[in-house]
Amino acid sequence: MKNQLNAHICPLCGCKTCSLFYQDTTRKYLRCSDCELVFVPQFYWLNSANEKAIYDLHQNFPSDEGYRIFLSRLTNPLLKRLNSKQKGLDFGCGPGPTLSYILEEQGHQVDLYDPFYYDDPSLFFKSYDFICATEVVEHLHNPSATFTSLFQVLKQHGWLGIMTKMVIDKQAFQSWHYIRDLTHICFYNRSSFEYIAKRFSAKVSFFGNDVILLNKL
Ligand SMILES: [Zn+2]
Repeated sequence: MKNQLNAHICPLCGCKTCSLFYQDTTRKYLRCSDCELVFVPQFYWLNSANEKAIYDLHQNFPSDEGYRIFLSRLTNPLLKRLNSKQKGLDFGCGPGPTLSYILEEQGHQVDLYDPFYYDDPSLFFKSYDFICATEVVEHLHNPSATFTSLFQVLKQHGWLGIMTKMVIDKQAFQSWHYIRDLTHICFYNRSSFEYIAKRFSAKVSFFGNDVILLNKL
């Protein structure tokens, strides 16, 4: 019953007017009328063992040139905006951190955090000039709480760089490969990030279809 009730509350903005956006053979997807987040209700989430089994397949290596090019869509605009020798956090780095290598090659120092592979909660008592979350925010169980934590550890004028694929419209959503990954439970669009920017007093910029930079004011 609790799940049924919570299922209709937006996990990002708390809005209670979420309605069915789409349903496929495995899951339902609700859409918030306020921040426009599309999300999968908890009833359909994988348990953490099954979730980790999928993440274990995401083995990336710093020597993988293709993966570096993929990440450069975030690191290029971010690096242009950072002063030298900044302190950063690679949030949700996964089993094979690569982003941190790219940024450390440019003189920055990067801590790693991942709830499955680098679970060091003491990092949340530090403060950072920048935080990166690449292919992470679509996995969040509680995006409201996570964004709150990230903005708490981000210094004033710091940068939060996000990479996630964004919802275009209902028609495109139905044939979207992104929703086939059962660990993907939150799907954002520009309005969702504009909501985040307003709530946490940040300025948002978009780069291409899947890179978002939030500059804490
Ligand atoms: Zn919402």
